[in-house]
Amino acid sequence: MMSKSQTLMKRAQKSIPGGVNSPVRAFKSVGGTPPFISRGEGAFVYDVDGKRYLDFVGSWGPMILGHAHPEIIAAVQNIATQGLSFGAPTELEIELAELIIDRIPGLEMIRLVSSGTEATMSAIRVARGATGRDKIIKFDGNYHGHADAFLIAAGSGAMTLGEPNSPGVPRGTAADTLLAQFNDLDSVELVFKENPHQIAAVIVEPVNGNTGCIPPQEGFLHNLKSLCHQHGSLLILDEVMTGFRIAAGGAIQRYSIDPDLVTYGKVIGGGMPIGAYGGKRKYMEQVAPAGPIYQAGTLSGNPVAVTAGMETLKRLSNDTYNTLEQLGKQLENGIRSIIETKNLPLSQHRVGSMFTLFFMPDAPKNTLDVAKCDIDRFNRYFNIMLDKGIYLAPSQYEAGFLSTSHLVTDIDIFLDHLESALDMIY
Ligand SMILES: *Cc1c(COP(=O)(O)O)cnc(C)c1O
Repeated sequence: MMSKSQTLMKRAQKSIPGGVNSPVRAFKSVGGTPPFISRGEGAFVYDVDGKRYLDFVGSWGPMILGHAHPEIIAAVQNIATQGLSFGAPTELEIELAELIIDRIPGLEMIRLVSSGTEATMSAIRVARGATGRDKIIKFDGNYHGHADAFLIAAGSGAMTLGEPNSPGVPRGTAADTLLAQFNDLDSVELVFKENPHQIAAVIVEPVNGNTGCIPPQEGFLHNLKSLCHQHGSLLILDEVMTGFRIAAGGAIQRYSIDPDLVTYGKVIGGGMPIGAYGGKRKYMEQVAPAGPIYQAGTLSGNPVAVTAGMETLKRLSNDTYNTLEQLGKQLENGIRSIIETKNLPLSQHRVGSMFTLFFMPDAPKNTLDVAKCDIDRFNRYFNIMLDKGIYLAPSQYEAGFLSTSHLVTDIDIFLDHLESALDMIY
């Protein structure tokens, strides 16, 4: 008999491309049918067949406080009674902007948009407008949303599906996006040398989250910034995943890096559609209507999304990040102990509450390394864990996320299932 999820997937495929509204949800690379989710509560999600999963996806990062946090839901319900969107300025938007600026060292101005994709494409426009240059450098495997300029070697979804370059991206656009390797400054320097006075900006995920979690090596981000400024280019930190995730001040605080521009999304919306881009006043004041660089949005800064974001950020204190670090450490130590005891060809990276178990013996430093992972074994691991009620991202090239709703005992449950899953695979 077909499960309800299987029935829904069949039905969805008739009206929605591939049955999903974002590709990686379809489980194409790991096989099987994705569970259709009916609700979430804390660290758990429930599917339409009534099965409960311990969730390590967290809607791909936003749900840092867990699902359906009662106070956040109440605040959203309350604000919704006042109207959903006005397309006019509201006081709430200032409060959120001030809260974000207050938390992020060096951040001077911010503009709200409705997704991470919008944030990064707008940041690039500002960099191009401010420098009068067209080309950008991105890193192989970094994902910055689905705007044309970024769908070049774009990690995760694109990587899993084997579509590093999407049809529909104009050749001219692709030609303006130059590639370098993460954690390899020489590769960046080479691109700068080959394109003198043409690079508007380098955009980077400070911790790669879209090739699995890969941290920056000591000094990489700082040297990257020096290199940018030496060539008259801007450094854009894409903190859509890491912002308010790996520290109260994101990667900017964690690695003491001061970028020219920065982008946010995910956590700052607490599960509602929001993005933001910001940075130094001298660049942000060039954005319309303060300046000539155009960017707009009908639903930008709508009170419902702003409230969900603000109520989430308000609950993220230094204590929260200490708690997440403790949970992360427990997970990391547990995984290490299993790998070492069983002498398995596996490795891991973790930064705060972001983690990935790599099916390769030496922890990768960039996409070139990640490509060596044993994907067949990853896929078996994924499906065994799903069966056991552990919900992980359906791709080796994704990070897992912890939330404040995860308990020490939840991590123990994960580790028990991991151990028995690995026994079945090796
Ligand atoms: C998720 C993500 C984006 C895109 O955000 P959307 O809200 O999905 O458009 C951009 N950059 C990074 C680093 C991301 O992880």
